[in-house]
Amino acid sequence: MNASKRYEIFSRLRAANPHPTTELEYNSPFELLVAVTLSAQATDKGVNIATRKLFPQANTPEAIAALGEDGLRDFIKTIGLFKTKAKNIIATCQILIQNHGSEVPRTREELEKLPGVGRKTANVILNTAFGEPTMAVDTHIFRISNRTRIATGKNVMEVELKLLKVIPKEFRLDAHHWLILHGRYQCIARKPKCATCIINDLCEYKEKTNVL
Ligand code: SF4
Repeated sequence: MNASKRYEIFSRLRAANPHPTTELEYNSPFELLVAVTLSAQATDKGVNIATRKLFPQANTPEAIAALGEDGLRDFIKTIGLFKTKAKNIIATCQILIQNHGSEVPRTREELEKLPGVGRKTANVILNTAFGEPTMAVDTHIFRISNRTRIATGKNVMEVELKLLKVIPKEFRLDAHHWLILHGRYQCIARKPKCATCIINDLCEYKEKTNVL
């Protein structure tokens, strides 16, 4: 795909949604860190239902550590992998208290040292909590980047690095939200809704459905 097409795609996505953000509900970098950790292999909606009860009771590393693994499990047991997630979150709280003055660290290196925090989660925190132009490539972004040919790649790392290289600077901060939302609601996995897609004429997917 050429640069002018990419520019037009992101211009349209921006015009349709000038201030995109995550659908996870949070009020601090720490709440976002907990919510993103809970969201692995779970829906944002499911996570929000759990955190709406959890955060009013405990939304600091100290308060969640005080709940203990069992106490935390009670709040998150509707979410997949909740036992592992509870363990990781409690361990993360302890590290934040001991090593980071109870704050969420702002570097990829320190974030990735936290239990259960991989490159994707670190990218979400850096982008959404701290305004860094990172690209957290999830299943939606991987699919839409390859389908449209905005950035093709065999694995998420390849796509992440390509996106960072080819997306014009002015779109970089918000690009990952636009792509996630477009993948989640429009360019869905089984049958993309091409007929109503605002980038239909620019997308290079060969098997578009319901072409206009
Ligand atoms: S035209 Fe179809 S395949 Fe291309 S981005 Fe839109 S929904 Fe996805």
